[in-house]
Amino acid sequence: MTSDVTVVVGERLARYGFGDGHPFGPDRHGAFLREFEIRGLAKRARVVEAGRSATAEELTSFHTPAYVEFVRERSQTGQGYLDAGDTPAFRGVFEAASVVVGATLTATDSILDGSSRRAFVPIAGLHHAARDRAAGFCVFNDCGIAIELLRKRNGLKRVAYVDIDAHHGDGVFYAFEDDPDVIFADTHEDGRYLYPGTGASHETGKGKAVGTKLNIPLPPGADDAAFARVWPQVIEHLERFEPEFILLQCGADSLEGDPITHLRLSAATHGRAARELAQLADRLGHGRVLALGGGGYNRTNLAQAWNAVVENLLA
Ligand SMILES: [Zn+2]
Repeated sequence: MTSDVTVVVGERLARYGFGDGHPFGPDRHGAFLREFEIRGLAKRARVVEAGRSATAEELTSFHTPAYVEFVRERSQTGQGYLDAGDTPAFRGVFEAASVVVGATLTATDSILDGSSRRAFVPIAGLHHAARDRAAGFCVFNDCGIAIELLRKRNGLKRVAYVDIDAHHGDGVFYAFEDDPDVIFADTHEDGRYLYPGTGASHETGKGKAVGTKLNIPLPPGADDAAFARVWPQVIEHLERFEPEFILLQCGADSLEGDPITHLRLSAATHGRAARELAQLADRLGHGRVLALGGGGYNRTNLAQAWNAVVENLLA
């Protein structure tokens, strides 16, 4: 059966987590999958088992070789942190993080080779990792790696990255701040109230890239209506630059009831974002949208938001 949406899941992907009881625990994958089955989406989507790891060459398309080596070493002992104290090392973290990147690249390839027009990966969208360091539960930045490879390996010119996670996608933003071919749009809780503290509206890109980046901070407590007032700016911003591929980091920590943030969106907003980006991609003539799960620490919320995304990509 052909389907419009590839969904990459599986036991290897579920291993990326920082232990039971941690906000980013390995049970997030199962929470998504249960709701995915209940809604009958597993029958409508093209489900692909996460298998391959990213290669060293793929990791270093974005990250520095020294950082990749550092993660490999810490992964053997499983001791200490991968950053200043947010992202703990665990035994096998290198392999687990490489499988996340591999899953994102499997999803990307499924779109480029025509297997489906859209794709979704639940445990992915690790948008805080910088080129040379981990940050905020993010070891390897699969979004940044996909953006690099879409251009270097697949020959696309302009790629768009949209981020509706409660946290600013700083790892993606600063890596491409001066790159005019990465069209960036990010709604997030105002950095004065939430990690990582960046993403002010005056941050619009540097040098030749000025104007290609759109940051929209939302006040704590912002709801669907507040989101609806700013979202058309995101669509207009992308439409102006006609990207050849659209990534959506659809972090579910922007929903009401998340334990570590203060926005009050509902899953309907995530569904709407996915639907309108898919419609935009269709208007641009290619239909390509890759959605990546991102954050989300309330299990019910992430199951609702991510399945709303898949449903709307299928529509
Ligand atoms: Zn987040």
